Amino acid sequence: MALTHGAVAVALVALTSPVLGEYAGPPMLVAALLGGLAPDIDLLATHRKSCHYPVGYTVVAGVALGGLAATRWTAVALAAVAVGAAALHAWSDVLAGSVETEPWNPTTERAVYNHALGDWHRPRRYVRYSGAPEDGLLAVGAAAVAVGSPATGPTAEAGLWWLAAIAVGYTLSRRRLSGLPRRLGRWLPAWLVEVLPSVRVDETENGATTLSVRFRH
Ligand SMILES: [Zn+2]
Repeated sequence: MALTHGAVAVALVALTSPVLGEYAGPPMLVAALLGGLAPDIDLLATHRKSCHYPVGYTVVAGVALGGLAATRWTAVALAAVAVGAAALHAWSDVLAGSVETEPWNPTTERAVYNHALGDWHRPRRYVRYSGAPEDGLLAVGAAAVAVGSPATGPTAEAGLWWLAAIAVGYTLSRRRLSGLPRRLGRWLPAWLVEVLPSVRVDETENGATTLSVRFRH
């Protein structure tokens, strides 16, 4: 989902570039992308809780906007957009599925933790899980909107197509990666299977996906 959040934030900044005026440009697109991706760093901790602050990020983004009105500094504008993208990420996780070991077989009602309320928001499941077909479509759609807008130059567009390609690859392989080496192994000669790395995909308790690649030598 991190890629989808990043792409949506970039698309929003690209679309609102005419309003952003002097602040619009590549650094603003990068700020939106990084802010949109950042909360999912907590895949390594308690996912959708440790770095997801729906209320906190919204308040900080509001303060940054106030600071921008007072100072007109570009750095403050970049910070406001980055934190705003993180706030949008945290809130929109409510529209997704729950935090699970196997999110396609949901058993909990935890979407995102609200530190201000001290409780979890219930998942609305419009996007069932990270890597679901609708998640991939959203990422590609948002990337296409950003590419189609006049705000993105050739470098940003190339980056966005890469992001879309990775999102599609992730979507296609999300549920199949674990069985792939075994299936491939049946068709390959034994000596080749011996030298190929083994790939393992694990779903952890807090909803993270780990991918381990092992070389036999
Ligand atoms: Zn998230």
